[in-house]
Amino acid sequence: VSQLQASASPITLERSFSFYLQKPDEAGLRECAKSADATVVRGANGPQLVTAIRRGGWDGAVLFDRAGYETDRPLLEPAKWFDSQREAGADRVLTPGRFVEWTGSPDAFDALARIELELAASQPDATAMLAIDYRWLSKGLYGALPVLRGAEVPVALVLAATGDPLSHPQAVDGLIAMTTSIPTLSLLRSDHGAIGAVAFGAAHGSIGLRATYRHFVQPGSRASAIPNDRTPRVFVRQLMDWFSGSNIAGWATARIPMPCNCSCCNGAPLHRFLDERLMLEADEHNRAVLAGVANHVFNAPDEDRRRLFGRLCKDAIDNYGPMGKLSMVTKPKRQLEQWALVV
Ligand SMILES: [Zn+2]
Repeated sequence: VSQLQASASPITLERSFSFYLQKPDEAGLRECAKSADATVVRGANGPQLVTAIRRGGWDGAVLFDRAGYETDRPLLEPAKWFDSQREAGADRVLTPGRFVEWTGSPDAFDALARIELELAASQPDATAMLAIDYRWLSKGLYGALPVLRGAEVPVALVLAATGDPLSHPQAVDGLIAMTTSIPTLSLLRSDHGAIGAVAFGAAHGSIGLRATYRHFVQPGSRASAIPNDRTPRVFVRQLMDWFSGSNIAGWATARIPMPCNCSCCNGAPLHRFLDERLMLEADEHNRAVLAGVANHVFNAPDEDRRRLFGRLCKDAIDNYGPMGKLSMVTKPKRQLEQWALVV
């Protein structure tokens, strides 16, 4: 019996979500697998780790992001990468990954993407992994969409931008144009927009547990970050977005109840995440809340799924505004406003 065979019918090609683990880490993997359909593990050593854990009987669904798009040096032996993923029982194998920078030229998109698409097509079961500049969703959709729609293999996308790729005008619309016309599309290394993508027809969405792994920042640009704020980033369901613990601790409004009823918090208040030491507990809260949102949306009938996700975003927007102190007003991000508008 050949061990070098990925799953015959990948569960990650049917409406599903995962958490995106930024590095191979056994404890993190086991935690992520509890509350999601699968886990995506980033890095070259992911397959080794999973192969070892499987010897102990662990049977979770896994995808491996080699993150080849992070470097401009192509992987010399992609065949080895495919084999190691299969040995590790990948749900499906991914190509090493390539970054398609913004040029505005459809021909340039086609030329770069095609290298990865053809590499995937050389395998019986591979998905092409592409990181694309967010402008291919907004200004350059007319160039990118036909190439990906015409692909004969599934495609997994990572969106590249210095900040939130989906906050740019037309970016959500462009993503929806892709998810509704390419049913095998996956969105990896994303934020909660991954749930929106699946609600709008994508096969799989993967949500990063760390802000730097909720999109890709291309080499040479600087990621945006909150200076000097090391408190955990916490997903707040009532606002459908991420906030730092120190930010939350400053709120004094009845619109956002501080006791959280998720399976991690059990009624404990969200403002406790002011404590920098609660990083792993914040991860657990984030996974519980995001899995709750994903399951709520995905389990709805086909015709309701988009409306449900849009409704969550619309209701969230009503919860923004003054946060109980004169000087503090929280405004919805552009991504949230776009999702609320598309329904
Ligand atoms: Zn919670």
